[in-house]
Amino acid sequence: LRTSFSVIQKETGFVNGVIAVLHDNTEQEKIDAERREFVANVSHELRTPLTTMRSYLEALADGAWEDPNLAPNFLNVTQTETERMIRLVNDLLKLSKMDASETEINKEMVEFNVFFNRIIDRFEMSKSQNVRFERQLPDEPYFVEVDPDKLTQVIDNIISNALKYSPEGGKVRFTVTVEDGFLLIRIKDQGMGIPKENVERIFDRFYRVDRARSREMGGTGLGLAISKEMINAHGGAIWAESEYGRGTTIFFTLPFELDDGGEWE
Ligand code: ADP
Repeated sequence: LRTSFSVIQKETGFVNGVIAVLHDNTEQEKIDAERREFVANVSHELRTPLTTMRSYLEALADGAWEDPNLAPNFLNVTQTETERMIRLVNDLLKLSKMDASETEINKEMVEFNVFFNRIIDRFEMSKSQNVRFERQLPDEPYFVEVDPDKLTQVIDNIISNALKYSPEGGKVRFTVTVEDGFLLIRIKDQGMGIPKENVERIFDRFYRVDRARSREMGGTGLGLAISKEMINAHGGAIWAESEYGRGTTIFFTLPFELDDGGEWE
């Protein structure tokens, strides 16, 4: 809390009174602190791949380029790091567009089960891990008015995390129910889980439970922060429950309609 005083003076110089203004700075200070932390995080996230690349490029320039055993490997590292930086910058651009409310949401009416099944199918076809998928989707159609591209990004992100953190032979379960007038979607894995005190923070920008592990798997730490913005923009909510060592469930909701308004065939 900050207080500022203004003295009210007449033209003759006589003091008429004093105005005291109490400023509540806590909210602004919090925003400023968050902004500083964000910039520090971005700088750190960019510096790490850049310093890695610099040392590999130096080694190549120092003669490793002539060594057929080393050169392809070193080039591979610089390529991986470049790709990570591109992903990071793309994610940052997405977030800054959403912050500035410049993201266009192009809504279409889609039947959620068909839409969801198609995304799960794509992962089931291409996954390299030995992880079983189990679907518990309703028989009735549920219509949602969503931006299909944006919602696909959200679901892709949640499923890739579930796969990334799943153990060999684990199961990922997809459930859709209706709760309080919203569609409730659950994606549950049997992975390593998240310590209780950190569960809420996984939607924060750059927050990772295990930074090294996330980086190793190519993560930017921004996926769930972007997902949260996107679900909010759709009038839904997203949250997580987790038991450390036993698994994680990501929940999100979407407003739905039972009737497609004649748009869907
Ligand atoms: P990342 O690029 O690191 O995956 P995300 O924003 O997608 O970034 O996730 C943030 C962090 O939340 C991850 O680094 C990980 O620590 C944790 N996390 C997300 N999903 C899961 C999951 N299914 N199981 C365990 N931890 C998870």
